Amino acid sequence: MIGVTAMRDDLTDSTSFPVARCERCGKSVLAYVALAPDGAERRFCTHCDTLLDGEPEWVSAEELESIGYYFGSRPPGGGGCGCGANGGGCSRKN
Ligand SMILES: [Zn+2]
Repeated sequence: MIGVTAMRDDLTDSTSFPVARCERCGKSVLAYVALAPDGAERRFCTHCDTLLDGEPEWVSAEELESIGYYFGSRPPGGGGCGCGANGGGCSRKN
């Protein structure tokens, strides 16, 4: 599935997340896997749903936080990706 569903608990150093460069967002973004129309697994930007070419870089939770993602409680004042993460995981699609 998407791979971002187990963000809160049991987050360990062994957990890694796919990050790839999104040209539209102009930064490294968390990728999710979905099936393309041709049936192949592809990775897409969690923010703008752009198809991400190439192999993702697998990073630790700590590294992921260093590029602007957060786990557990969000930092005061909101910000970040603004996904809200209601009901588990960042599933922003709009
Ligand atoms: Zn993007």
